[in-house]
Amino acid sequence: MSVKKVFLPEREIPRQWYNIQADMPTPLQPALHPQTQKPVGPDDLLPIFPLNLIEQEVSTARWIDIPEEVLEKLLIWRPTPLQRASALEKYLQTPAKIYFKNEGVSPAGSHKPNTAIPQVYYNKVAGTKRLTTETGAGQWGCALGLGCTLFGLECKVYMVRVSYEQKPYRRLMMKTWGAECIPSPSRETEFGRKMLAKDPQTSGSLGMAIGEAVEEAVTSDDTKYSLGSVLNHVMLHQTIVGLEAQKQLKMVGEYPDVLIGCVGGGSNFAGLSFPFIRDKIHGRELQVVAVESTACPTLTRGPFAYDFGDTAAKTPLLPMFTLGHNFLPRSIHAGGLRYHGMSPLISQLTLDRLIESRAYNQLQAYAAGVLFAQTEGLVCAPETNHAIAAVIEEAKKAKEEGKEKTILFNLSGHGLLDLPGYDAYLNGKLEEYILSEEEIRESLKDLESFPRPMI
Ligand SMILES: *Cc1c(COP(=O)(O)O)cnc(C)c1O
Repeated sequence: MSVKKVFLPEREIPRQWYNIQADMPTPLQPALHPQTQKPVGPDDLLPIFPLNLIEQEVSTARWIDIPEEVLEKLLIWRPTPLQRASALEKYLQTPAKIYFKNEGVSPAGSHKPNTAIPQVYYNKVAGTKRLTTETGAGQWGCALGLGCTLFGLECKVYMVRVSYEQKPYRRLMMKTWGAECIPSPSRETEFGRKMLAKDPQTSGSLGMAIGEAVEEAVTSDDTKYSLGSVLNHVMLHQTIVGLEAQKQLKMVGEYPDVLIGCVGGGSNFAGLSFPFIRDKIHGRELQVVAVESTACPTLTRGPFAYDFGDTAAKTPLLPMFTLGHNFLPRSIHAGGLRYHGMSPLISQLTLDRLIESRAYNQLQAYAAGVLFAQTEGLVCAPETNHAIAAVIEEAKKAKEEGKEKTILFNLSGHGLLDLPGYDAYLNGKLEEYILSEEEIRESLKDLESFPRPMI
């Protein structure tokens, strides 16, 4: 019988994160201050983030110790199993072997607690009493709520009003963990009140919610803000996924030929792939595929440019692939893939041809997700389904070429709180959503006055 699941013993859990900034062929270009357009320094970021996380953000040390207190919490569900999709392989009659890391087993149901927990820990050490953040569908709000309850910090989550009203379950998870979750825009911040004065009926947006969460952090001494993707320290914390996978694959004598993950801001993909990309930089042959939605095709169709990280235009300018900070993607069910930009680390590695990218529409993604559910039994997050669409394409290609490839993908989360998307798909109510060139050109106009990064 071939292996179905590989469990890494708890004592083998990685004790350091891997920082790809130590090995990148081209170093990152600096983030720029939005007004002066000079590289930002720690002082610019201190009102928002604690110094220890700012230090991690710019560190070029290859290995960074995971604090014992963080490991203790990660052990609640880590190491996550490495599983083999043997029934899917059989259905596809492919010679490819398909493995995946199951990040859906975390308490919040996705990979996001891998960074929420260390972020809360470093804030606690730095004296922060309270964290604020924004959330769309609620995955990040849940992860931060979990982290805060485990370390005894207060947590306030500004949730986009329309999601707050339409998607009660994650907000109830946050409340169960003791987090305060309020619909945004709210009356609790100046920015929120301004938005409500403009349009009392507004359904809110991620940009508005970020504006409120950042305002609250900046205007109170013991409160900081926390971000769930995009930034370097977030990618760093997620590398525990790939480091575990390397050990687990070694236990069964495997090494992947193809790595696949879906990308919103890039964190689950970075977490799985960066430790393997280190091998690729040192000569190993490996295909690394980032998968996005055709409704938000940042890597496949956006330019590499300096742009704001947020819609409120308050963050530093980041060098990244982007569709423009005012880009508003159609409301696809894969809410986590609706980010206009891309992690600067993933962007630079894409420029250096260490990562390739691909996009699928949501009909293709759900078709893949339903096939996965009907063969392997697991109902995946709509974001993850995009990765599975690429996995199936690669497995079919292996069949055509008669090659026995090993594919590894990141199952970034389960879909048990995202069933309305499946309902819409199964009832034929989903649309493809493919952007026109015109729409992209229009939203990129805002970037014309910004400095240009080197390519
Ligand atoms: C948030 C989320 C994503 C997208 O975010 P990344 O930072 O790109 O990983 C993907 N899958 C799931 C399940 C998510 O919750």
